[in-house]
Amino acid sequence: MKKTLYLKFLLAYVIFGFFGFVAVATFVSSMTMEHLKHERAEALYKEATLIANTYASDLYNNETSLDTVKKQLDALDTYLSATLWIINPSGRMVLNSAAPVDVETETVISGFDPTVTGGTYYTIGKFFKSFSEDQLSVFAPITSDYKVRGYVVIHYPMQNLVESCNSLLNISYLLLVMLFLLSMIILLFFTEMVYQPLRKIIYATEQYADGNMHYEFQVESADEMGYLSASLNYMASEIARAEDDQKKFVANVSHDFRSPLTSVKGYLEAMLDGTIPPELHEKYLNIVLNETERLTKLTNSLLTLNNLNTKGMLLDKSDFDINSVIRNTVATFEGTCRKKGIAVELVLTGDELFVNADVGKIQQVLYNLLDNAIKFSPTDSIIKIETNEKHNKVFVSVKDHGIGIPKDAQKLIWDRFYKSDLSRGKDKKGTGLGLSITKEIINSHGEHINVVSTEGVGSEFIFSLPVTDDPDE
Ligand code: ADP
Repeated sequence: MKKTLYLKFLLAYVIFGFFGFVAVATFVSSMTMEHLKHERAEALYKEATLIANTYASDLYNNETSLDTVKKQLDALDTYLSATLWIINPSGRMVLNSAAPVDVETETVISGFDPTVTGGTYYTIGKFFKSFSEDQLSVFAPITSDYKVRGYVVIHYPMQNLVESCNSLLNISYLLLVMLFLLSMIILLFFTEMVYQPLRKIIYATEQYADGNMHYEFQVESADEMGYLSASLNYMASEIARAEDDQKKFVANVSHDFRSPLTSVKGYLEAMLDGTIPPELHEKYLNIVLNETERLTKLTNSLLTLNNLNTKGMLLDKSDFDINSVIRNTVATFEGTCRKKGIAVELVLTGDELFVNADVGKIQQVLYNLLDNAIKFSPTDSIIKIETNEKHNKVFVSVKDHGIGIPKDAQKLIWDRFYKSDLSRGKDKKGTGLGLSITKEIINSHGEHINVVSTEGVGSEFIFSLPVTDDPDE
């Protein structure tokens, strides 16, 4: 499996780190430098103005000596780590904190122009070629009698500013590295919460694709990942169940077809080779006929079941009188009932009771229920069929006093091919499909069917149908 998602995340992480570094090295660096320059220039300008208004103007007014002012400038030189000058407007050096007082030699800053700063109060450069390194220079005019007598100039080496800027930038780099390391937590979270579960899910889907539908996996998180894997697990188990059902179904069908076919074949062969003498042929042909009837019934049931699909079953619904459908169905069993001495008691609500359903399919439901009731009832017993109307529903009940259904079998009777052990002896022709067809028909109507049964006492099957008003009224 390609680890592309993980690589993409790693790449994003590296890009994040790279651009973080570039941002600090460019924007942050120039912003810090700009800020430091302004801050330093402002502080130095204040200092220069102060000197211009005090010592320097005193000097020009001859109120103090050159040496005294020089001492002050020297002290400030050390304190500010800067070079302080007092110069005349012509550019002639009066005092220089970096050099001893020398009245003999005249130092002139050639080309000195006080407007060099333009709109601001500082300039950066070698100050008219006076320095070999760049300086941040500010100057304040010394005025007396409304005339500019000279200037106080303070030079601060740019190198110092660059160093301060670098040490500040180092802090930014350190912060960036810390941020980078901390953001690894996101990467870890991603790995733990997205990537690992995703790999499990991918592995599981590969298993399912290989047909291993029983593969189970666990993603313990109450988020979308957990939900996705739970859904996948559920989907796989449903498919596995459907596959198992399918296998069971085919096994059951084959078994149910094989046994009558084996006996038909056996009897026919025995008749042909003379094992069964001709005088007994009629008896055995009747058995063969019975078996073929069973096969026909089985085939019909399978076809019905195949056509039924709880979700997509096509129902031909109409309003009809359920009471008369019950009477007709009972009439078809008259012969069987008479033979077994079974009486069918009808307790029907009203003369007519109209429901809205597929009449053909409901007829089949009644047929299946009544057929079972008769099959599992002892001779000379009573079967009661009742209709009741309650909460806009009609409840139809078919109650017998037969063998009953054991508690643990009551859930299973609706499964395809289920036949209880009790019934096997009594009902050799049963296919175990009747009730599953019945349930599917009722469910496809959006209604319910239930059973209440006690072993050895009897069973009652009750199903509901939606009531409608008499259409003729
Ligand atoms: P079958 O066609 O074999 O009767 P059904 O699906 O109709 O298949 O019934 C399944 C099983 O449910 C039967 O084999 C029987 O064990 C049980 N059963 C159904 N109806 C009754 C009943 N009225 N009394 C006792 N057992 C019943």
